[in-house]
Amino acid sequence: MFENLSERLSGVFDRLTKQGALSEDDVKTALREVRVALLEADVSLPVAREFIKKVQDQATGQAVTKSITPGQQVVKIVHDALVDTLTGDVDPGELKIDNPPAPILMVGLQGSGKTTTTAKLAKRLKERENKRVLMASLDVNRPAAMEQLEILGRQIGVDTLPIVKGEDPVAIAKRAKTQAALGGYDVYMLDTAGRLHIDQELIQQAADVRDVANPRETLLVVDGLTGQDAVNVATEFDDKIGVSGVVLTRMDGDGRGGAALSMRAVTGKPIRFVGLGEKMDAIETFEPDRIAGRILG
Ligand code: GDP
Repeated sequence: MFENLSERLSGVFDRLTKQGALSEDDVKTALREVRVALLEADVSLPVAREFIKKVQDQATGQAVTKSITPGQQVVKIVHDALVDTLTGDVDPGELKIDNPPAPILMVGLQGSGKTTTTAKLAKRLKERENKRVLMASLDVNRPAAMEQLEILGRQIGVDTLPIVKGEDPVAIAKRAKTQAALGGYDVYMLDTAGRLHIDQELIQQAADVRDVANPRETLLVVDGLTGQDAVNVATEFDDKIGVSGVVLTRMDGDGRGGAALSMRAVTGKPIRFVGLGEKMDAIETFEPDRIAGRILG
């Protein structure tokens, strides 16, 4: 794990004589460090390569500013390029919840933090936007998952759809829709079943539910610590189901945030929220600036 790329970059430049402009060789030397750092942060190789090229083009020949060292200058160029790559055109915090009751479909692998994130977002909608939210668990394979959502609902004061044994996910989704309409809810959230790996059954189930619910948002929850795997999962879910955004969980962990950079670059899907812990308030909208800082260290 690299320690503080910013310092390492500055170090590289401090060894070089100060010239009037950043030379191609200086920039190349520095970008070698950046490349290693990106790979250590689990950014995929093609994404790292493309990123490096972009920065190289920008940095070479740039006049050295008097007020900062060449090292600091390259750090800034890298930082800005990271922010640029991470920034999308969707306002990350805005969930589309017009035309009530608005369905939000939550998908992802088992253990990614899907149920926790469903409850965190419900709490957020309730507290920040004053929305009435109904949550429903569609995880018929794991009764414990249904109970988990019910317990979280009680904890945060958000209603959950009563559990009816033996119902299939599509039937539950339909009941949630009816209940949300009758009960005057603004939003209903469908927490689909997860599995350890993507398989045909998982995708089919999510697709069937999507077809009956016609969700305004389909949020994919992925574990930010799984790096490149998270990106592969996102690519597959998006191909097969179509997602409107990604929630990266466990960003409170040791990961350097490389998954975020690859996610945006590979899938083109916006990261909407990041999970920062187990508590119900531990979620924030995605801030490119913060992740860029984290990748730089
Ligand atoms: P699901 O199987 O995808 O529904 O996963 P869960 O919501 O049950 O979460 C699995 C575990 O991850 C639980 O212990 C959660 O408390 C934990 N978890 C979820 N999100 C985060 C996060 O952002 N940070 C940390 N540290 N733990 C999380």
